Amino acid sequence: MDDENNLLHFLDDTPSSHYRKTCDGYSSQNDGDDQSDTSDADPSNARDRLETLLNQPANKFCADCGTPDPKWAALPFGAFICIKCSGTHRSLGVHISKVISVNLDEWTDEEVNCLANSGGNATVNTKYEAFLPENYKKPRQDFATEDRAIFIRKKYELQQFVTNPQFACPLHKHGAEKRHNQQHSGSKHGTFRNSWRKKESENKGVKKMMDVGMVEFVGLIKVDIIRGTDLAVRDVMSSDPYVMIILGHQSMKTKVIKNTLNPIWNERLMLSIPDPVPPLKVLVFDKDTFTSDDRMGEAEVDIQPLISAAREYQSSIITESTQICTFLASENSILAKDSIISIVDGKVEQEIALRLQNVEHGELEIKLECVPLNQ
Ligand SMILES: [Zn+2]
Repeated sequence: MDDENNLLHFLDDTPSSHYRKTCDGYSSQNDGDDQSDTSDADPSNARDRLETLLNQPANKFCADCGTPDPKWAALPFGAFICIKCSGTHRSLGVHISKVISVNLDEWTDEEVNCLANSGGNATVNTKYEAFLPENYKKPRQDFATEDRAIFIRKKYELQQFVTNPQFACPLHKHGAEKRHNQQHSGSKHGTFRNSWRKKESENKGVKKMMDVGMVEFVGLIKVDIIRGTDLAVRDVMSSDPYVMIILGHQSMKTKVIKNTLNPIWNERLMLSIPDPVPPLKVLVFDKDTFTSDDRMGEAEVDIQPLISAAREYQSSIITESTQICTFLASENSILAKDSIISIVDGKVEQEIALRLQNVEHGELEIKLECVPLNQ
């Protein structure tokens, strides 16, 4: 599909997204609940505005480092960014910056509206770099990931350049910083309250972000959470399950499906692949309103074979579906069925039926697709 088609087809879609948030409610809603779609803007109007936006000269270069032809957008800011900067944005967490691909993602109407309303890179940089010190070295195309990460954090997460430092009130500043920290522990690690992760997630914000700054990203993994089968009961008769995936420092959640042990999500989550490649952790939780969420099993997936296959076959021109390798299921393995890495429509994919671990019973079907960095 060409770019234009990809940009326009989502306007007609209303995919069930885990990410139904308005620009305004962006940072405040993060608990994995299904949000109702509050968008009432005229889609054709949004399309016009988006097209106008894409044609603006400022949007032909990454808002953060100036690399030409950026193929990603960071919400709620509405900045068009390059793939390298997109990796850093993604590592900040979706509560700060939600990265969507202009080519790959199915966008919700709200995301389209959010971007159409943003004004694009010119507006974003006028606001978020308003008080960038004159001698500050803004990243360029050839900057190391670490320097890029420091700038992007300051610009969007800490928003250091939004106000004139001369007039910044120290009390206010302190408050903002504090709120930021709370938001971090609340939304990124919220589901781990009272669980095995508690100690690890406490007081770790600063160190974690420094670690993130060192990470190189080698590509993107799309994780389709398809369905759960025969999951464990955590409420009286049933459960309200959702899935969280973790790759290195990044995590994402599906929506909650109420009152079922056989949920169907059909939901796509995307993460950047750091180097070295950590295992993909998949965790199922039962959403509880008044207490911390209960665990319903987990699994760890080695995504290295998929990445190797994607690298090997990314430039091949195989058009028919081809199986590359098979991982056999056995009675005690984490695989409930044989798992095959294959090329389908030029995409390198792996379907996996996971037997959830550390739980009475339950299986989870997922599908992975790897997109190497140089796309
Ligand atoms: Zn960039």
